[in-house]
Amino acid sequence: MKLEKSIELYTKGKKNLVGAVNSPVRAFKSVGGIPIFIHKAKGSKIYDVDGNEYVDFVLSYGPMILGHRNKKVEKAIERALKRGYTFGASTYNEIRLAKIVCDAFPGMDKVRFVNSGTEAVLSAIRLARAFTGKNKIIKFSGCYHGHSDALLVAAGSGLATLSLPGSKGVPEEAVQNTLIAEYNNINSVKLQLKLHDDIAAVIIEPVAGNMGVVKPTNEFIKQLREITETNNILLIVDEVMTGFRSKFGGAQELLGIQADITCLGKVIGGGFPVGAYGARNEIMEMVAPLGPVYQAGTLSGNPIAMACGIATLKELQERNPYEDFEKTATFLSRTLKKAAAKNGVDIQVNRFGSMINPFFTKEKVVNFKTAQTSDTKKFKTFFWKMIENGVFLPPSQFEAWFLATAMSKRDMYKVRGAINIAMKAVADKHN
Ligand SMILES: *Cc1c(COP(=O)(O)O)cnc(C)c1O
Repeated sequence: MKLEKSIELYTKGKKNLVGAVNSPVRAFKSVGGIPIFIHKAKGSKIYDVDGNEYVDFVLSYGPMILGHRNKKVEKAIERALKRGYTFGASTYNEIRLAKIVCDAFPGMDKVRFVNSGTEAVLSAIRLARAFTGKNKIIKFSGCYHGHSDALLVAAGSGLATLSLPGSKGVPEEAVQNTLIAEYNNINSVKLQLKLHDDIAAVIIEPVAGNMGVVKPTNEFIKQLREITETNNILLIVDEVMTGFRSKFGGAQELLGIQADITCLGKVIGGGFPVGAYGARNEIMEMVAPLGPVYQAGTLSGNPIAMACGIATLKELQERNPYEDFEKTATFLSRTLKKAAAKNGVDIQVNRFGSMINPFFTKEKVVNFKTAQTSDTKKFKTFFWKMIENGVFLPPSQFEAWFLATAMSKRDMYKVRGAINIAMKAVADKHN
């Protein structure tokens, strides 16, 4: 396959961009080779600068749930563009999107729009600390909550490991209030509660999507809700990935829990930079201008982004694609398992709603530790064969594949063909 123009742009890009990218995963480091440069996209397809066409499971890491350039969304953006790009004053569309979001999440009376998931989460943590008057937070190893200092904590082994920064440049002081627990292990949370009494919040991805897809057990998530409530600790549910994706009301709707603070991003902006955090009145009234918690943004509630978000969510509401997503995910899961069995390759397929991915391991994947048993060399082989056969996957074993409403049966048959070839290549190379 031809990737000459991508190679050329990569070489050019490295001069003035760090690694030729603006977000590390795009550099394809964990699968080797050079990153593919994109020219355009439409519907379920994405096209690179060499003219190769792919069925797109990256979908910009989640936002493009309708596929690319949905007609209604495109019209809404065009209408908004004609009225101006940003005003630094309020607009009606902010109120409209806020209503759609608050109606979708029963625990949310008010919402504040920001520009990214990272911003939503760091603001939610500040709010939780202010509301409870406590300082510590618990996060789960393997969960990603954006790149703010306090949340970039290495997932150490063992349950009560020291909190060490997961990035250079993050001072130990910045993470000393971040405690780590293990996903799907309620005892690891109880242990932290026993050791510390200054805990403001527990933050969790209700379905983890940043260590590959890992579902919480019913028992774990219910108990987590109970424990936080009885100990006067806020539960921050980070639905940046799952919000409007698992269900219109996010993973909370499917899991039957209610967050104290919900974080949103990705789908809520339909491809434009939007994040949000919301909660019941009592909590949100702590935020400026009503309360003493400062949080602001020059471009927050940007009119183009709001228009895109509203159009995307309305289309989702109208189509209610969640059952179809379930069917497509079932098809993919079966296809992956069948191909793996046929070729004698060990895999686990995890999925939740429109998020799915295979792990190349024998072990059931229920947390970060078991996710890491996956053979990433096999994933690398699999990944490049899928690219060769017209399927664009996230270039990492530990990223979820996303579904979009624009994906057709024909797309899925093409994907099935690619999976069969790629799985055989994995067996040929590694078995
Ligand atoms: C993507 C993601 C974030 C960060 O959002 P950005 O918009 O990339 O800053 C936070 N939390 C979760 C669960 C995410 O998937």
